[in-house]
Amino acid sequence: MKIPFVSFEKMHDEIKDELTGKFQQVLAKNWFIQGEELAKFEEEYAAYCGVKYCVGVGNGLDALFLPLKAYGIGTGDEVIVPSNTFIATALAVSYTGATPVFVEPTLESFDIDPARIEEKITDKTKAIMAVHLYGQPAPMDEIMEIAKRHNLKVIEDSAQAHGALYKGKHVGSLGDGAGFSFYPGKNLGALGDAGAFVTDDKELADKVRALGNYGSDYKYHHIYQGNNSRLDEMQAAFLRIKLKNLDRWNANRIETAEKYLAGIKNPEIALPTIMPDTKHVFHIFAIRCARRDELEKFLNEKGIGTNKHYPIPMHLQGAYESLGIKKGELPLAEEISATELSIPMYYGMTEEETGYVIDTINAFK
Ligand SMILES: *Cc1c(COP(=O)(O)O)cnc(C)c1O
Repeated sequence: MKIPFVSFEKMHDEIKDELTGKFQQVLAKNWFIQGEELAKFEEEYAAYCGVKYCVGVGNGLDALFLPLKAYGIGTGDEVIVPSNTFIATALAVSYTGATPVFVEPTLESFDIDPARIEEKITDKTKAIMAVHLYGQPAPMDEIMEIAKRHNLKVIEDSAQAHGALYKGKHVGSLGDGAGFSFYPGKNLGALGDAGAFVTDDKELADKVRALGNYGSDYKYHHIYQGNNSRLDEMQAAFLRIKLKNLDRWNANRIETAEKYLAGIKNPEIALPTIMPDTKHVFHIFAIRCARRDELEKFLNEKGIGTNKHYPIPMHLQGAYESLGIKKGELPLAEEISATELSIPMYYGMTEEETGYVIDTINAFK
């Protein structure tokens, strides 16, 4: 049996005619940037997240960078970032000129450990990036409480967690604002690059919108030195179709995760934990194993696709050499990098496929 790490086939098969119809409709209109499809998607996605405003942008990185820029965060400032995340969370901070300050996760949740945040707060700290990694909501009550006490902004990096819930509320509605990525492989993915920023703060939404459109509040009138980062009509139209299916597609991922959690019994494997009072949407099903590289080779040889999220922690990447953080200084991020393995997780995996993944992992000795 051959099981890829990820496949869009079943998801796209279900909506192929709708997508094709929309393509023709947008093409016929000959209006490709900032039109009706974007306005409708923004309205629908804000409602889905339970917030007042949504601003479509070019990608997830900009959905995180633009609000930091809008807050005036920049050179000399510090922003708290989990040490275990995709590099985009930290780059969003670096692009403003501010410095990312890494805080370790818990091995249980893979998300930031709220008990370790305060020791990293200085008088330069301006914000916390709360990442809902792998689809698991971060501990937002604790994060918001710390932020309030130190007068910090909280931006949720929701790029891996569309549709996830924390105490019954959608991620994206829990901080001061949130960035989403619609990279094709995300739980809600476009057919190319796209992203969105959501918030209840009108002033912030307006500023992010202007910053993503050359700093312009109306045509050829520029109040800021902005960027060009917009969500185009074609992607917005495709996303509207996909959004209608998101909860159902997530439910299917969760069913697969439940099968994995019940079926994988190999004592060498640590299974992911679903934290209390959260709906984890399993963007990634992350297991840990001391002999991770051997396990990966074994699974790949048996036709099972895998991935590592992420093989090198950010502080040991060339990109962040200048921070001068040495190996051993962030041992939990390093531990996850050395032991984490992501196993197949996508909409439409069959009983037979999940069964084969489970049996193969259980056969690893
Ligand atoms: C994918 C991702 C991003 C960046 O999104 P892009 O659309 O690729 O720019 C940011 N943060 C996290 C945690 C991600 O997984």
